[in-house]
Amino acid sequence: MVSATSGEFRAPAVQRRERLKEVYARAQACTRCPELAATRRSVVFGSGNADADLMFVGEAPGASEDEQGLPFVGQAGKLLERLLGEIGLSRGDVFIANTLKCRPPGNRDPLPIEIDNCREYLFEQVELIEPRVICSLGNFATKLLRDDPAGITRVHGQPQVITLGRRAVRLYPIFHPAAALYTPRMLQTLREDFARLPDLLALPPPEPPAAVDQAEQREADEALAAAAVAVAEAAPTGGPGGSDAAPAPDQLGLF
Ligand code: URA
Repeated sequence: MVSATSGEFRAPAVQRRERLKEVYARAQACTRCPELAATRRSVVFGSGNADADLMFVGEAPGASEDEQGLPFVGQAGKLLERLLGEIGLSRGDVFIANTLKCRPPGNRDPLPIEIDNCREYLFEQVELIEPRVICSLGNFATKLLRDDPAGITRVHGQPQVITLGRRAVRLYPIFHPAAALYTPRMLQTLREDFARLPDLLALPPPEPPAAVDQAEQREADEALAAAAVAVAEAAPTGGPGGSDAAPAPDQLGLF
């Protein structure tokens, strides 16, 4: 399928969704970080609209997220929802994910090795959801997605086009809502940065990276579509399961 706006080939949404469910299943069984795998109650894959134009990437699940299997369901999540409401959006309009899918014990910072282990899931989510804008929340997501150590204080509110895999996407770093919970000045900055999101979303999608050969991209997308059909035919994905903390399927936005 060729997009009318950019001329790029896009795998049909239904096939991207099947692939995303496959990534979900892989993440659920992940044991790459032995400590996190041993201490988590759930793998918090992400939730919302899997065809969203806007995706948020936070840091890692906290206690409430680990318990419910859903991202941003605690205090920071409530603030995120309020800020979304102020620009006329709700959780169902966006997809929310994290840099790490598992809770670091005691809410410690993610370790570099854990970020490295988990990045593949996030990058596959981006590739399959195809957001136009990714909002990175705080330092960890911003450093990973910009591939640069510059901190959020320096780069917040400055959109840039980044290349992830074979796609270009607008990255918009902003402060993490948890940091703004108890600091009125930071909340004001976060609110101002949020207010620029509708204009960013209204921009045309960024051009695909020049280095990507369009025929090569089409071939890869077709392979992705064929793989998705094979997965769907071999084992139609029901819903999440296997964890005592599994969220209801319709809460994830994938099933
Ligand atoms: N903070 C995050 O970064 N992610 C969550 O899911 C919750 C709080």
